[in-house]
Amino acid sequence: MTHRIAVIPGDGIGQEVTPAAVEVLDALDIEFDFVEGDAGDATKAETGEALPQDTRELARGADATLFGAAGETAADVILPLREVVGSFANVRPAVSYPGLDAVQPDTDLVFIRENTEGVYSGIESEIADGVTTLTRVITEDASRDIAEFGFEYAETNGYDDVTIAHKANVMRETDGLFLETAEAVAEERGAEYDTALMDALAMHLITHPEDYGVVICPNLAGDMLSDLAAGLVGGLGLLPSANVGSENALFEPVHGSAPDIAGEGVANPTAMILSAAMMLDHLGYGEDGDRVRDATEAVLDAGPRTPDLGGDASTEDVTAAIIERL
Ligand code: ATP
Ligand code: MG
Repeated sequence: MTHRIAVIPGDGIGQEVTPAAVEVLDALDIEFDFVEGDAGDATKAETGEALPQDTRELARGADATLFGAAGETAADVILPLREVVGSFANVRPAVSYPGLDAVQPDTDLVFIRENTEGVYSGIESEIADGVTTLTRVITEDASRDIAEFGFEYAETNGYDDVTIAHKANVMRETDGLFLETAEAVAEERGAEYDTALMDALAMHLITHPEDYGVVICPNLAGDMLSDLAAGLVGGLGLLPSANVGSENALFEPVHGSAPDIAGEGVANPTAMILSAAMMLDHLGYGEDGDRVRDATEAVLDAGPRTPDLGGDASTEDVTAAIIERL
């Protein structure tokens, strides 16, 4: 069976790390049909549109999408792309690696962030001069979907600790519903879980990340807590993410287009390659995903390393070393 993968490198280092991930995928014994699409600043300059219709269609029709980064036009590219794949769950692992400097070397966390509502519902208005409001939407359906996804993810990936993050003591209606729904899902599944107030959780994640595994969050909390955890393990160049929908999914590094180093050939390809490993898991090739993660981890430990990790290797050197270990 051939898997059709939409490859959208975008801008800046997206043009460098995306081909690196494709090279790694090509080294596996799986048949992929990679189809490249344009998006981002350069595309907008050329065509007037940051995300042309044919790129949208490409992502819609593919089995999965690999996306690099977009610069100024990021919001015009990634938000509609997430919509195209029907993404409701943003999966953001933050794992510390042996041999690398990290604030907390025992971190192995996965944030499962609700990706469609909460304070990012887009319902904002200026109701009078100098007075603005925002409507925070939480629905039972979306809360159920994200909780089901989070518990399933924990089970499939061997995480014992599942934490439901909320602030139901203050946002009684909205987070009350989120918490109640997620707890009901846990009980139906017979799954163990903890709940945590998101502010206290922010502190505990810094002092004792080893106490946590999968953290299921409403939208804004997931956005902030996962960035916090990114700081714990050190380095934007390391962090992958997945946007998973009911039928389709998009995989992208957490970092952006990094214009300061773009074109120099020294971008760290790790985040993008680990995003490709998440894509392998999603397509049912968990063992290959593990192989890619093991090879990447070994190279992070032994080198070569790119300058952001204190080395002097190029993107291509690191990619070749990972493929060699595969
Ligand atoms: P954008 O607007 O596209 O997000 P940015 O200027 O915010 O661009 P980021 O990509 O978010 O840049 O990166 C922030 C910093 O982290 C930059 O200094 C960048 O060089 C560095 N960085 C990000 N990703 C990588 C990577 N893969 N390898 C090396 N350095 C990186
Ligand atoms: Mg940025």
